[in-house]
Amino acid sequence: MKDIEIKNYVVVGGGTAGWITASLLATKLSHDKTKSVTLIESPDIPIIGVGEGTVPSIRQTLKRIGISESELITKCDATFKQSIKFANWMDKETHGEKNFYHHLFDYPFPFGDNLLPFWHKKKGSSFAEMVSIQQHLAELNLAPKNITDAEFTGISDYAYHFDAHKFAQLLKENAVEKLGVNYISDNVEDVTIDSEIGILALKLQKNGMTKYDFYIDCSGFTSLILGQKLAVPFIDKSNVIFSNKALTVQIPNLDKEIPPFTISTAHQAGWIWDIALSTRRGIGLVYCDRYMSEDTAREKLEKYVGNPLEEFNVRKIDMKIGYREQAWNKNCLAIGLSQGFVEPLEATAILLSDFSANLFCNKLPEHASDLEDFAKHFNKRITYTWERVIDFVKLHYCISNRTDSQFWLDNRDMSSIPTSLTEKLSLWMKSYPSKDDFFSKFEVFDLENYLYVLAGMDFSFKDLKMSDHELARYENQTNQVLKTFEEYKNRLPKQRELIKKVFENGFPKI
Ligand SMILES: Cc1cc2nc3c(=O)[nH]c(=O)nc-3n(C[C@H](O)[C@H](O)[C@H](O)COP(=O)(O)OP(=O)(O)OC[C@H]3O[C@@H](n4cnc5c(N)ncnc54)[C@H](O)[C@@H]3O)c2cc1C
Repeated sequence: MKDIEIKNYVVVGGGTAGWITASLLATKLSHDKTKSVTLIESPDIPIIGVGEGTVPSIRQTLKRIGISESELITKCDATFKQSIKFANWMDKETHGEKNFYHHLFDYPFPFGDNLLPFWHKKKGSSFAEMVSIQQHLAELNLAPKNITDAEFTGISDYAYHFDAHKFAQLLKENAVEKLGVNYISDNVEDVTIDSEIGILALKLQKNGMTKYDFYIDCSGFTSLILGQKLAVPFIDKSNVIFSNKALTVQIPNLDKEIPPFTISTAHQAGWIWDIALSTRRGIGLVYCDRYMSEDTAREKLEKYVGNPLEEFNVRKIDMKIGYREQAWNKNCLAIGLSQGFVEPLEATAILLSDFSANLFCNKLPEHASDLEDFAKHFNKRITYTWERVIDFVKLHYCISNRTDSQFWLDNRDMSSIPTSLTEKLSLWMKSYPSKDDFFSKFEVFDLENYLYVLAGMDFSFKDLKMSDHELARYENQTNQVLKTFEEYKNRLPKQRELIKKVFENGFPKI
């Protein structure tokens, strides 16, 4: 039988995952005019439209696909995000009524040494304050850069908050107008499959039968092709990550200061995100319905917002926690919610879509005969990545010392914690975390991410002895952090002020 050359790719779904994937693929294939990328999007099924917090790797992707930072800020109401501020994740009695910590985007230890043991000995200030200038700057609502800094560069590392609908629209315009992605607005009514090949064709409502060489399922939670048609099983992780519902509202934010971080405030059965864009705040209460009723969740959200919920359009969203056993099956790869979802904590979803799309584009199959090997390679890596992301999200729940509800107690139950995580935690009670504890680049959360969370949540590290010489060196480094902060605090604008300037002038292009 003739080996089919893979020339025509189709992406089903026009949410963040679909457009990021189509854009990266079209960029990768731009030199080869024999290849095409088509995106099919239903005119009737809206995108999920949440997903407003990102992580710094999004900057690389935007740069790669040719979206300018100024365009993102002005067209998507975007703001700069430098951290996640976790409030009330610890017990109020032991850690104070208003306990909080930051998971910063800046790499800690700008002066070289790992200061965790020193911080643990001293405990004068929070870990993040001791090891980086970023929390100091962020708490003053300062931006990570100046208007004179080139696009995608800054004094501190950063990502963005943006309006998910406007972001999808910007990705679409860019993909169609600049990257040559073919766009079809139509409903996929049926999918023809073959047990050997995988997908044979899509039946579209208006355009009839259409055939491609490779199918990328970005259809959201429905997982239309990989889940429903190819029946790839879903690995349910609700026994590890309990959150399964979210209530969301948007409230105006036109003249207020814009915190350059996501605020994540824990409550008795989950947490609340608070994301400030330039025009509005997006607020969402995440909870588990095994521990909290919808009525209580609404009351809590109303209290947080400070106004009757009737004034707003409250959306209720169901979340399915887990991922597909194989993201890539035969000639079909799922990316985005159709591949899996953990929960919104730590903004892992756009990160994983972006990561998956890059992983795919780095090693594209040329022929149908490549598919099996390539799928095996991809699935092994992405499964590992999913498991480590789940570990990292679970970490926030299982090392909390909150005891005020069964939700928090059950999160510490050993049966709900993956062995891969308990092994690490056990090790870190005996020796400080180090680079060697992380195996590969497929762990998208690395040592520094763990350090911010572990130290922020007062993990029980064992004290290490330190010489006077070491103590003096570390003390000097922490003083330098404070000195650097003093230098920068007058050189950076407030976030709102910078956004205004971007609307007026834009950033210099790279
Ligand atoms: C409560 C909540 C909060 C979140 N917060 C964050 C966050 O802060 N950060 C983050 O990174 N992620 C977050 N996420 C995840 C984020 O929303 C998604 O990763 C992101 O929106 C991508 O979704 P998607 O493109 O996979 O699916 P969707 O946006 O749902 O898009 C699905 C697409 O498939 C199309 N489609 C479906 N069926 C058909 C059909 N039959 N024919 C043709 N087209 C079809 C639809 O029209 C649509 O275009 C959150 C998710 C939830 C549930």
